Amino acid sequence: MKQLQKQEDHLMTGISYKKFSSQYNMKSFSGVQYGEVQGFLVTLSEGAGYKSASVCVSFPTPEVEQTLLAELYAPEMAKQYRLQGVQRMNTGVLTLVFYDNPGTLKRMQAFFNWFFPHLREIGAQGVSHCAICGQPFGELPGSLKFCNGVVMPVHDSCVQSVKREIAQEMEEFHAEPKQYGRGFFGGLLGGIVGAIPWAIVYYLGYFVGWLGLLIGFTVKKGYELLGGKPGRAKFWIILLITLLSVAFGQLLGDGIELAKAIADGDLPLFTYSQIPGLIIDSLIIDSDYLRATLLNFVIGVIFAMLGIFGILREVKQEGRVGEIEWIDVEPTTL
Ligand SMILES: [Zn+2]
Repeated sequence: MKQLQKQEDHLMTGISYKKFSSQYNMKSFSGVQYGEVQGFLVTLSEGAGYKSASVCVSFPTPEVEQTLLAELYAPEMAKQYRLQGVQRMNTGVLTLVFYDNPGTLKRMQAFFNWFFPHLREIGAQGVSHCAICGQPFGELPGSLKFCNGVVMPVHDSCVQSVKREIAQEMEEFHAEPKQYGRGFFGGLLGGIVGAIPWAIVYYLGYFVGWLGLLIGFTVKKGYELLGGKPGRAKFWIILLITLLSVAFGQLLGDGIELAKAIADGDLPLFTYSQIPGLIIDSLIIDSDYLRATLLNFVIGVIFAMLGIFGILREVKQEGRVGEIEWIDVEPTTL
């Protein structure tokens, strides 16, 4: 019963939202409402707990844009209009998200009454300009296209060049599997660079675990600088090299300590070439030393994971490239 009530409520807000949009003579397309509001193309949509208005707009200068964004982020906006979030897409779309409660449409109406005249005041351009390049339509033909849930006025040539760019990215994404090898090599170099501060700080007798963060970072940087391929395997390659590098940094630190002891004559029976053997023997014989080494390693790895975890998210985003579609909304030319 409660469920039914909820559905009915939702339907009601849906209807009033349509009424709201019909004030602006908006049309429906693919589950959203779109139309021109005071010279700007606006797409209205709603989801669980929010309503949003995406405005296609270009600004005369980046400073004007920054000033407006700062105005929109002010806490008074949330209080007065229930404006919850502002997103500026690189395609020239400004998305305004409103917290959805009874009465939100009234607040949105008030916001629109302030916002669109304000946009004109600061010299922003709307439907007469392409949402991709920000230039007027003039000689180049344009049309309304639906992309990522927003209806936009765009040059046909701009859509073509965006498509080409994405196709190129896709190609780079899928091409040249051997680039994983280059990334691996770059990651190893990065790992060595990152392991040196670890070894030195350890030798000096300070806590080193946090330097794992640096190792994760240098491994990732090395992988990318040498042209390693983005993709799922990237994460595993970087993880493997990072584990090896943390271990290397730890053992290198012990190595430096032993080398110093040999140089000072504290270990008269040993030579530098015996250092690796000495470390291995100590790990086997001395359980305290083994425990301390493992503890450092584990803490280092935890910090390193913090450094490289972002890669997983990047990989997901990289995988999504190319799913963007541009759908014709109306045959009209702009
Ligand atoms: Zn354009």
